[in-house]
Amino acid sequence: MDEIISLCKRRGFIYQGSEIYGGVAGLYDFGPYGVELLNNIKKAWWRSSVQLKENYVGLDSAMFKDPKVWHASGHVSGFSDPLAECKKCHIRIRVDKELGKIGVHADEKMSEAELIGLFDDNKSKIKCSGCGAKDFTTPKMFNLLVQSNLGNFTNKDEEPVYLPGEACQGIYLNYRNVLDTTRMKIPFGIAQIGKAFRNEISPRNFLFRCREFEQADTQYFIRPNENEQPYNEIKEDRWNWYVQYGIDEKNLRWHQHSHLVFYAKDAWDIEYNFPSYGFDEIEGIHDRTDYDLSQHMKHSGVDLNYTDPQTGEKFIPWILETSAGLGRMTLAFISDAYTLEQVKDGESRTVLKLHPDLAPIKYAIFPLLKNKPELVKKARELYTKLSEKHMCEFDDNGNIGKRYRRQDEIGTPNCIVVDFTTLEDDTVTVRDRDTTKQIRVKISDLVK
Ligand code: ATP
Repeated sequence: MDEIISLCKRRGFIYQGSEIYGGVAGLYDFGPYGVELLNNIKKAWWRSSVQLKENYVGLDSAMFKDPKVWHASGHVSGFSDPLAECKKCHIRIRVDKELGKIGVHADEKMSEAELIGLFDDNKSKIKCSGCGAKDFTTPKMFNLLVQSNLGNFTNKDEEPVYLPGEACQGIYLNYRNVLDTTRMKIPFGIAQIGKAFRNEISPRNFLFRCREFEQADTQYFIRPNENEQPYNEIKEDRWNWYVQYGIDEKNLRWHQHSHLVFYAKDAWDIEYNFPSYGFDEIEGIHDRTDYDLSQHMKHSGVDLNYTDPQTGEKFIPWILETSAGLGRMTLAFISDAYTLEQVKDGESRTVLKLHPDLAPIKYAIFPLLKNKPELVKKARELYTKLSEKHMCEFDDNGNIGKRYRRQDEIGTPNCIVVDFTTLEDDTVTVRDRDTTKQIRVKISDLVK
């Protein structure tokens, strides 16, 4: 993972947030190649979640919402993780995760009393990662919602507004609007990509646990009790999406939740085998019954029942949810693509074998020599032409071998070289990133 983090920084994928001020824990910025990769992942997700599904539509809801939304969702009262502090060096730990590390099952859904009991029984085995002491404060639940003063001009103690703790609430708020303004009928889904903010107690593991991140969510509205078949289909569909975009199946596994919240029927996570950290969640797939719409109906006073157009029957739809973190996805795609290969003469090369749809740059175009204007001119023309449809890069700096290595490291599927033969017969060499094989192709065929 250290090598991957270093590559991400060196090659302009991901930077520490506010780095020139010393950096802020749990915040990351996506650099020039990172933002291309992220946008391509979003595009691939959107294509499969909205464009290729007849009964799904997209949404982009406002981040800020009426504070009542977060009361209705249960976040104000219950969106908490158990926190304890080292009495010696004051590092804060997330109690359930520390218990997990020593093989004791605990999660944030347990009551404070249960967690205190478990922590008390096992605290002799939990060492502070900062100073090695085993002396912690009693665990207490810490609310993760981030607050803001949007719309508060009085400096008085008004109810705060909250930044979204999860992106999906906007979907529930607009379920009625979508029904009233489109031809969607149950079963149908709404998809959204949105930011989420959580005051994570111990942000860690690079993009894995941040305080600001993006989620790609779908909510599928169904008739009550007709959950089983679509739930299985959605699970299969989401698994296949990761495989389709290049994740090796041996690095994926299912994890079923053993402790369900009271309203949930079932909950599974797709886990990815992160280098150094091991398997952990990248996406949750949840069978949530009618909880979300019932809560919003109760708190808003608006009727969110669905009326079956054929039978006139009224019911609150059940919801099947998928929720994936784009940062964790990005890290999984980079990790899976990261390859260190021995090449001849004892040299090695680093290659990001990203799926071509995800690769930040699709084609890199090089003139063989920088100081031959006729080669540079021809290569520039080709770059301009290919850029009409693809993200391309022009590079005339350094020797060709170095230029290839650079593109390998950022995952460019093809490098195209304009050389002296090009000037005679209008062909170029096209090099394949993974095999390093080169073929000659006519420019007209290439553009086609
Ligand atoms: P965890 O148990 O790891 O805290 P969670 O179960 O709280 O995660 P959800 O609330 O189900 O996560 O969020 C859905 C997805 O959002 C997760 O599968 C993950 O990919 C992403 N996610 C959640 N928290 C974070 C975070 N702090 N940083 C980055 N991504 C996150």
